[in-house]
Amino acid sequence: MTAPTEPQPFPADWDSLLVLVPHPDDPEYGTAAAVAKWTAAGKTVRYALACRGEAGIEGMAPQQAGPLREDEQRRAAAIVGVSHVDFWDFPDSNIRNTPALRDKIAAVIAELRPDVVVAIYGGAEFASGAPNQRDHIEFAAAVTGAWDSLTDPPRWLFQNGPAPTHVETVDGYLDTAVDSLAAHEVYLSVLDPQTPVREQARAVIDMTCAELSGRRVAGFILERTTDR
Ligand SMILES: [Zn+2]
Repeated sequence: MTAPTEPQPFPADWDSLLVLVPHPDDPEYGTAAAVAKWTAAGKTVRYALACRGEAGIEGMAPQQAGPLREDEQRRAAAIVGVSHVDFWDFPDSNIRNTPALRDKIAAVIAELRPDVVVAIYGGAEFASGAPNQRDHIEFAAAVTGAWDSLTDPPRWLFQNGPAPTHVETVDGYLDTAVDSLAAHEVYLSVLDPQTPVREQARAVIDMTCAELSGRRVAGFILERTTDR
């Protein structure tokens, strides 16, 4: 039995990165700490989301929840240095790997021409017994399909998730990542009314930015690269 390969450092020789996810708060579950580090280093990071999360707040009408979650997402992004946040209006909880979604993703990548794309994790499970959501799985597949359709794709396509091939060290950026997730204040307070929002956010960042060889890291899985 061979030992698992140590993850490599996340590439550093790039200028612009696009985070592609289905829902508000997806960038804050694991990627935001790395985003804070990248923008602090002068790199450009943009977010694009398939929907506004309008179905995500229990007991709140979609026409109220959508704008509220969009606003929380914009604040969360600003905290980690991201001012470009685009929402596409695909239906929350019904994100499917359709030609329309792949076309939209391909068009946005072609327009923004990022060096790196970081997508939501598309595996079936985060861990044994912790299934991924269907919206995430279908959206991630649509991103890979869109990348494969491009004649001049970005240099790298990663997913943010478990069993990473690449890691970014995020020591010094964890508090900012907690602040960013805690910006989803109404969303988190309805999701778990018993636990203060900052406590919830801290627990998520502790879980998603694991320790590796004494450093805290954000993990990414390399899906595609144009490198030979
Ligand atoms: Zn999500």
